[in-house]
Formats: sequence, C-alpha cells, structure tokens
Amino acid sequence: MRYRSTRGLSPDLSFSQVVLEGLARDGGLYLPESLPQFGSRLSELSRLRYQDLGMEIFTPFMTPDFNPGEIAELVERSCQNFEHREITPLVKGGDHWILELWHGPTLAFKDVALQFLGNLFEVLLKRSGGELNILGATSGDTGSAAIHGVRGKERVRIFILHPQGKVSQVQERQMTSVLDDNVVNVAVTGTFDDAQSCVKEIFSDLEFKDHYHLGAINSINWARVMAQIVYYFYGYFRWQEKTGGQAAVFSVPTGNFGDIFAGILAKRMGLPIKKLVLGTNENDILSRAFQSGDYSTKAVVPTISPSMDIQLASNFERYLYFLADQNPEVLRRWMEELGKTGAIKLEPALLAKAQAEVQAFRVDRTLASDVMNRYLKRGSALDPHTAVGVGAAELSGEKDVICLSTAHPAKFSEAFEAATGQRPKIPASILALEGKPTRVVTSAATKSAIQKLMTEKIG
Ligand SMILES: *Cc1c(COP(=O)(O)O)cnc(C)c1O
Repeated sequence: MRYRSTRGLSPDLSFSQVVLEGLARDGGLYLPESLPQFGSRLSELSRLRYQDLGMEIFTPFMTPDFNPGEIAELVERSCQNFEHREITPLVKGGDHWILELWHGPTLAFKDVALQFLGNLFEVLLKRSGGELNILGATSGDTGSAAIHGVRGKERVRIFILHPQGKVSQVQERQMTSVLDDNVVNVAVTGTFDDAQSCVKEIFSDLEFKDHYHLGAINSINWARVMAQIVYYFYGYFRWQEKTGGQAAVFSVPTGNFGDIFAGILAKRMGLPIKKLVLGTNENDILSRAFQSGDYSTKAVVPTISPSMDIQLASNFERYLYFLADQNPEVLRRWMEELGKTGAIKLEPALLAKAQAEVQAFRVDRTLASDVMNRYLKRGSALDPHTAVGVGAAELSGEKDVICLSTAHPAKFSEAFEAATGQRPKIPASILALEGKPTRVVTSAATKSAIQKLMTEKIG
C-alpha cells in the first residue's frame, strides 16, 4: 500500500514512512491510495476476537512493510493493557447500544490508538536504528494516553506539556505518576493555548526539529486513524448478533474528526453502515458544516466535554479530500481559502453528498446533562463526551444506534455529579493513583526554556 498527501505536493510514501512523518511536508495529511474491501468477508470476520480482527484489517494497510505474523504480534501487545477481555465491549444503554472504548490504561478511547502507536514506533525505530523525541501539549486526555503508549519503550522519549493546575486531578496524576526514564512531564505556567503555541514554535524551528528528531503524536497520524477502524467492525458484529439488524447507525462525539473518520473509512471498506451521526458540544464548527455547509472558525468556549473543545478539526481535511473526489488541486484551493478567511463554504451539491453519509447535531450542556441523568436512572453511567454522542443519536430519531463511549465517567466526575447528583464509581486504576509517587518539572511556556530542558534530557 502506498500513501498520498491530500495536497498532492509530497511524494507518495510507504506505511512506515507515513507513520514516522506524521504531517506531510506540503502541509497535507496522508491517506492510502485505495481502500481494501471487506464486504465479501463479513461473516468470516464476525467470528474473530478483537485482536485477530485487527490483524485482518491492518494487513492490507501495512503491507509490504509488515507481514501478518508481525502485525498479529503488534496488535496482541497493544491490547495487553486493556482491562476487558473483549477490548471494546458492546452493552445495552437506554434505548441504544453503548460501545465502550475506555477499558485501556487512561480510561479514554485514545488508548486504543496510542497503545498501538507506541508499539509501532518502537518496532520502526529498531528497524531504522533511529530515535524519536515526541513533543506535545495536552489539555488532558491525549497527553496521558500518549505517555502510557510510549512509557518504557526503547529509542523514544516523550515530553508532554500541560498547563499547571489546569488539568483535572485524575488526568494530572495519570501523567505524573509515570516514572519511566523516557517520560518527561512538564507543567507550564499559563493556559493550554500557551503550551500549544510553544510547541508549535519549537516544531517550526526546523534545525532543532531535524537535529533532535522531533515527532508529534497528534491525531493526524495515519496509524491512529487506522487503529480506530477495528472497533467499528467489532461493534457492528456484536450489534448484529444482539439485534439481528443489517445496516447499523453509529453515533460519535466529535472534536478533531479522527474517531468518526475511522467510521467513514469502515463504511467505504464495505461495513454495512447506514449512516454516521456526529455530535458536537457548543464548539459546533462541524455540526454547522454538515447542517448548512458553513465550516467557519469561532472562538473556543470551555464546555463540560473539554476533549472536544476545538476550533478547527484537523482530520476534517481527509474528509474534504474525499468530497473533492480526491483532487488535490481542489483541496489546496479550499485550504488556502480557509487560511485566508477562516472559513470554507460547501456548495449545495457537496453538502448533499456529505449529508447522505453524516448527520450532525449540536448537543449543548443542558441536553448532555439530561442524557447523563436519564441514562443513569436506567443503569448506564455516561461521561459528558459520550452523552453528547447519545444526545445526537436521540436527535437523529434513529433506533438502536451504536453510540461510541469515549471515556469513563470517573475521568469527568465533576460534570457527572453536577448532572446527576451522584458520584461516579471510581475504578481501581484511579484509586491506585492516590499516594503514588509523581515526577514533574515546571517551566515557563517559552521556546527557549523548553528547548533547554529537552537538550539537557536528550544529551
Ligand atoms: C479526543 C476525545 C474525543 C474526540 O475525538 P476526535 O477524534 O478528536 O473527534 C471525544 N471524547 C473523548 C473522551 C476524547 O478524549
């Protein structure tokens, strides 16, 4: 399989190259040149356990760089830290179905992809003899999942900046209690945006970036999207067993458009998906885009589902590329327009095409809280992100929707308690954080301070 940049100005690459490169040098995102088709193999695939299904789905994407035996071994290892035998079990919740994606080490769905990516990085670097220094800023979920993905791995270090005192206590402890030598937690003074701009500034220092082999771990990495395709297949098969249904509707609480994009790929790979329902919180750029074609930036407002508080959805570019019939010139024109005016307007014909596949809704705090409350009364504790997806499923009017559950409620216990009047059950892995030794360095959120800290550590 070869991979192509959405902007068409970078050379085509192999799977391994794409994983290490992340963003294409022309500013685009990588996509496979074609999608493997599984439509004729569904009944065979439906009998596989999660790990074996993963191997089958990844093989065409990772060939020829990896053989099936190597892929099976990678997937097996990447599932070891999950607490549930099924990895992503499907359970009944209210009138719908809940696909629990949070049985990994940091209790959020990002573990599914980042456990895999950490192992993949280690294998690729061992092969190339190189090393990688991952640098990222986090508002909570991504940083802790990334740290748990690469802790203890050879040839890779990770530096994660979080705004001091501005992530939840659980999130902070999930990061700072990891004492492996290759993990550096940095609490920076200021906000998440300060940390983020500092990271961006360091990445644009190309001399520093090349010399220290800087790598990113954000959701534009193709391997993260690919890893998420598996649970759409797995969830669909369990749903089919339980309901006897044929074409499924998935609902996905959405921020950067990575999770739902994996579902769009699954559909295009032959999984019988009737449609995908997209839920945003009050940061509703994507629901506006799918409702009226208005993809325009506004200021980010803080919500009770902070992992979806975004202004621009980086993975949306991959979907726009499909809408443009994979024409990189059209895409470049749109991205230029977006850069200049902060907006893209989808013409009616394109909007109709998008709406045939994705139906989007804005779910505000009132509705999300109401969903948490009603579902708890019927025995399902939902976190505020999951509640956005379930709220969108309700607004769609569809029955028996498979709702992706992206985090354990204990990760967002304040919002849960405010909505339901009850405390969520605290899982053992969170209780175990109490009293654990932690390590964190503090720093100003400036390019020079962080670069100094990194060079001291890298040596
Ligand atoms: C990151 C995240 C999301 C949003 O996923 P995207 O791939 O960015 O759309 C939703 N819920 C939780 C809990 C998350 O951490």
